Amino acid sequence: MSVITPPTDLLRQQDPQMADVLAGEAQRQATTLQMSAAENFTSPAVLAALGSALANKYAEGYPGARHHGGCEYADLAERTAIERARALFGVEHANVQPHSGSSAVLAAYAALLRPGDTVLAMGLPYGGHLTHGSPANFSGRWFHFVAYGVHPRTGLIDYEQVQRLARTHRPKAIVCGSISYPRHPEYSAFREIADEVGAALVVDAAHPIGLVAGGAAPSPVPYADLVCATTHKVLRGPRGGMVLCGAEYAERVDRAVFPFTQGGAQMHTIAAKAVAFGEAAGPDFARYAHRVVANARALAGALIERGFGVTTGGTDTHLITADPARLGLDGPTARGRLAAAGIVLDTCALPYGDQRGIRLGTAAVTTQGMGEAEMERIAELFAAALRGAATETRTKVGDLARGFPPYGGR
Ligand SMILES: *Cc1c(COP(=O)(O)O)cnc(C)c1O
Repeated sequence: MSVITPPTDLLRQQDPQMADVLAGEAQRQATTLQMSAAENFTSPAVLAALGSALANKYAEGYPGARHHGGCEYADLAERTAIERARALFGVEHANVQPHSGSSAVLAAYAALLRPGDTVLAMGLPYGGHLTHGSPANFSGRWFHFVAYGVHPRTGLIDYEQVQRLARTHRPKAIVCGSISYPRHPEYSAFREIADEVGAALVVDAAHPIGLVAGGAAPSPVPYADLVCATTHKVLRGPRGGMVLCGAEYAERVDRAVFPFTQGGAQMHTIAAKAVAFGEAAGPDFARYAHRVVANARALAGALIERGFGVTTGGTDTHLITADPARLGLDGPTARGRLAAAGIVLDTCALPYGDQRGIRLGTAAVTTQGMGEAEMERIAELFAAALRGAATETRTKVGDLARGFPPYGGR
């Protein structure tokens, strides 16, 4: 089987044009390598919840306090998602309504800050997310962001710089989180700095939260005031966000999500989040999370052997940031050549200079059941694709991908 979601006969009968689009995407996902660090394959059970009757339901508000009638099953779905999130992350309160990771960050800021407040976050040129102060995003327009970076040589967060900037600018909040940092941040160091200057600590754990769920990365929960996260990256749930916090922030966070920044919650997505949290609580997911990291370490090593620079010299997570400069290429050119060979990934900022590198991750290929032998093979395919052997490599990539169907490897 090479398709991911069997397009229903109904859709094909009614709308063959759109059925073809969806079949094409399923085919694309099954015959190329999904190596974006932000993507994964949700389970068929998660997809089933997404396509369920709750897609029709309006349920503004929270369980037991809705603005709409007929919410008994919507309430059950949301209460289940909340309980499972609380148990999974060992946290007092979970808001599972944010429509996306960005919405979760917006709600976190709304819970803690006023427009014009100062926030200290990783700068975008170093791997900060758009919601960490980009002038093109609400965050950069409504708050005064001060940026910390990473050490240009080691690629690691410079905690002395974070402390210096915190002492100078006295931020109301400090944001720890990145789209391309391959190591575990030292949450305790961030906590100490935040306490010293009286700032709240927001951990945007969009990337590592799935590893945290599987016990393959340290949890930010004991250190952060608020943890923002996505549910669709390593965590393997539906596209969406959540905010985790202690009881003292519960009401502020809930009001910041609804009614301050969102309307009706997407109840089918919340049901799917509950399914994903249920999956993530089991031993299979813990094994999966550890294999994701083992695969990323193996792949980073194999890429280094083939002449790639790898920032920080490796990874502790699912994520690798690599520099193809020594192969005579910049990030965008490398991404293009890899795409032509069926290897799909992103470009990213590098800790030094203006050149961009490539960002890749092992979450999706690990869900497919690939292991360290395949990581070695993938590094070979990377090298061949970058040498320009696109057509030949594309065939080999297709063969590899088809050997590990997305829904055959879990
Ligand atoms: C992915 C990500 C987000 C945003 O998630 P969306 O669902 O795309 O809005 C926010 N912060 C970080 C650090 C991320 O990696």
